[in-house]
Amino acid sequence: MGIARSTLLWCSRNRWIENQFRHRRFAKKAVSRFIPGEDVGSALGAARDLAKHHIATVVTQLGENVSSMAEAEQVTKHYLAVLDEARDLQPRPHISVKLTQLGLDIDRAATVSQLEQLVSHAATTNNVVWIDMEGSNYVDITLEIHNEVRSKHDNVGVCLQAYLHRTPKDLEDLLAMGSTIRLVKGAYQEPPSVAMASKRDVDAAFLDLAIKLGEHAARGAPVKPGIATHDTALLAQLEKHAVERGWGKDTYEIQMLYGIRRREHLRLAAAGVPMRVLISYGEAWFAWYVRRLAERPANVGFVLRSMLWR
Ligand SMILES: Cc1cc2nc3c(=O)[nH]c(=O)nc-3n(C[C@H](O)[C@H](O)[C@H](O)COP(=O)(O)OP(=O)(O)OC[C@H]3O[C@@H](n4cnc5c(N)ncnc54)[C@H](O)[C@@H]3O)c2cc1C
Repeated sequence: MGIARSTLLWCSRNRWIENQFRHRRFAKKAVSRFIPGEDVGSALGAARDLAKHHIATVVTQLGENVSSMAEAEQVTKHYLAVLDEARDLQPRPHISVKLTQLGLDIDRAATVSQLEQLVSHAATTNNVVWIDMEGSNYVDITLEIHNEVRSKHDNVGVCLQAYLHRTPKDLEDLLAMGSTIRLVKGAYQEPPSVAMASKRDVDAAFLDLAIKLGEHAARGAPVKPGIATHDTALLAQLEKHAVERGWGKDTYEIQMLYGIRRREHLRLAAAGVPMRVLISYGEAWFAWYVRRLAERPANVGFVLRSMLWR
């Protein structure tokens, strides 16, 4: 991992740096490239705009590692209201949650119950709840909770990170259960014993896993798997496999983040490729934003320019 990336990932967990950064006007301006606003209204407004271009969405309120169940219950209440608000949008935005935002660090059983409330409520409007994957120490418990809830409800999906050495086996187990999967490269700082360090290895692992996911989905899946990457070279390789193997155009959907590769979102959707954009919103954007900077340290240039032109 490059020094710029590891320094930025370290910054994403530093409270002092967060306090220095988050209240500055230039910071809000820089972050607005990736987040349409702090309230859910801005996120749903952006979802409405994207829908005009046949782009589906998934919305997520930023935040992680809440420190009380009362806070977690507020998050659940918030998402229940979002599911109601999203009811009239076409296509209906999915929601994506972090289990530590639903209280995982505090009470496992209560977290399962929060998640079940969301998944049951989403089912009433034919909607889907995605579970984000967090740092590697949460993978076992996240998959256990996913499996528990998935055994009762079809409308829940989970994220897998290609950089983890364990993921091929997790993918196999999840596919055997008929799970809905979003595949990403992985956004956290992990030791080499747990995750691949070189980008080339991560890219190769991602392609391998995406092909397995596609092969499985081509046989019919109730909810399309998400191939979540902005790596257009990788997507082109996957597309080549799809064509060679005769997979239908709607075997999987491509998922990208709001504000990253916007022109590509439009191009893919116009070409009839199922496309979903993840829209984040909320006040707790610092750690999330700095992880986005770490993915492309060149983005730090945008922050510096925002400082100069504020
Ligand atoms: C829908 C979605 C959900 C996600 N959920 C999770 C999750 O639950 N857990 C998790 O660990 N990670 C998650 N991620 C993040 C993911 O792990 C990667 O960190 C992120 O997608 C960047 O990797 P990449 O696949 O785009 O490839 P990269 O190799 O990082 O990027 C490929 C190219 O895309 C462009 N690009 C990528 N990132 C940026 C950026 N920030 N700014 C500008 N250009 C950029 C650049 O041109 C870059 O060369 C999610 C990503 C998406 C799209």
